Amino acid sequence: MRDLRALPKAELHIHLEGSIRVETLRELADRSGGALPHGLRGDVWRFDGFLDFIQNYTEACALLSRPEDFRRLAEEFCADLAIAGVPYAEAVFSPANHAARLHDWFGPIEAVLDGLEAGRRDHGVLVQVCPDVVRDLGMDEAERTLEVATKFAGQGVVALNAAGSERAPVAAFASVFARARDAGLRSVPHAGEWAGPENVWQTLEHYAPDRIGHGVRSIEDPRLVELLATRGIPLEIAPVSNVATGVYPSIDDHPFPRLRDAGVVVTLNSDDPSMFGGWIDEVFLAARETWGFSDDALAELAAAGVRASFADDGTKATLLAGIDAWLAA
Ligand SMILES: [Zn+2]
Repeated sequence: MRDLRALPKAELHIHLEGSIRVETLRELADRSGGALPHGLRGDVWRFDGFLDFIQNYTEACALLSRPEDFRRLAEEFCADLAIAGVPYAEAVFSPANHAARLHDWFGPIEAVLDGLEAGRRDHGVLVQVCPDVVRDLGMDEAERTLEVATKFAGQGVVALNAAGSERAPVAAFASVFARARDAGLRSVPHAGEWAGPENVWQTLEHYAPDRIGHGVRSIEDPRLVELLATRGIPLEIAPVSNVATGVYPSIDDHPFPRLRDAGVVVTLNSDDPSMFGGWIDEVFLAARETWGFSDDALAELAAAGVRASFADDGTKATLLAGIDAWLAA
């Protein structure tokens, strides 16, 4: 069996803040006197459901304050992606999660883009950023997030994301996504992770998504599964994350194989690897061990991720050639 770290993978659903190393959090807490997130015990995270995960996520964000903290986060992110065998990634970053605390919408993402540039130089990993509208925070914050995203469109920012608890109304934010598109940004909202298929239907109607983050609960509506397959809208699926936050009780119960068998374009991703205990190589390993995917099937999943990415044609060709070489080895 081939080494899954050596398989070149495009990571399409990963949050920068949810990738922060525990040792970095600890150093930031020591320096500032701030408290570590309440769910962190030693090196292990424990969450009591999705809302508790969000609470821990917010507590982790609160330890990031200086520009150098954000630069370090981004540089270490590239180093860790390189170890996991990811030459290319599209990463979610939440300006709104930091703006309220730091009273600064642009500084954190500027520092992140700086750190990613250093990471590209030092580790050969290319990362494009997808700022996310945290819908629970309301429309004013969404407008500011759009402003941040469009300012850096084509200069490190590639798409607009939407996240949060999925309890927020979808349609209310349609114009934000329409204007993002006018500014040349792609649309990659979260949907159908916590809320059911209706949330995905509404997202398709109002955000014109190029891909959908998670989308796993589409499986509950056969008509929706058929539509996703027909339209070829890729799902960014993160099975280890879905189990860690309690969407599914175990990987065995996860609908990934059924969505794949139904012809939906599925990709494998990690979501918040530091907090869920697994970077994308471990997600591929879980797919091999749980679902018995062959190396051919795993290579095809990696290729699906590359094709569904917003990398330029040259980068895609290089990655696809690397996947072929992995399989031929
Ligand atoms: Zn996510």
